[in-house]
Amino acid sequence: MALPRIGVLALQGAVDLHVHALERLGVETVEVRRAEHLARVDGLVLPGGESSTISKLLVINELFDPLAERLAVGMPAFGTCAGMIMLASEILDGRDDQLSFGAIDISVRRNAFGRQIDSFETDLNVIGLAEAPVHAVFIRAPSVERVGPGVEILAAVEEGRPVACRQGQVLVTSFHPELSPDLRLHELFIKGMAA
Ligand code: GLN
Repeated sequence: MALPRIGVLALQGAVDLHVHALERLGVETVEVRRAEHLARVDGLVLPGGESSTISKLLVINELFDPLAERLAVGMPAFGTCAGMIMLASEILDGRDDQLSFGAIDISVRRNAFGRQIDSFETDLNVIGLAEAPVHAVFIRAPSVERVGPGVEILAAVEEGRPVACRQGQVLVTSFHPELSPDLRLHELFIKGMAA
């Protein structure tokens, strides 16, 4: 099968490093800023940044509804940090006007690790990536506080706090895989699309 064309939502946040990671895997990428860009992609990466700002910019750029429609009919998506918040079914500690897509049945709490420490790094065992742990960088990261019945937990920290989850072709991480040279999570997303 031909490699898919992957969009990176490029309204705000850590866009370039995701584009570079995907390009290193040989995938064609499109920076998605308007609905016509979205129409050209087979799947979408939603990067980290500031989820309430991304939510607002999606509405201003008339991209929220077209993206919601694509996700509702099963477009594969990979959300990291703020991107995970955007894909979740419920946001805790969000702004009152903050929207999300409900593409994965999880409840996430914004900045939930931030009360103890703003940012930290750790090595994670990720299901499906058994050959070596993934070095994970967390920056004002959201926590997953509820996981619906159809959701797989791929990695967790501490006493079982999930930090990587998947439901069908929607993959999310609390951390920033694009900040490490390890391409395996991006690869997992792309391989999941081809399955
Ligand atoms: N704290 C940010 C938010 O709530 C997420 C941080 C990140 O993406 N690194 O949107």
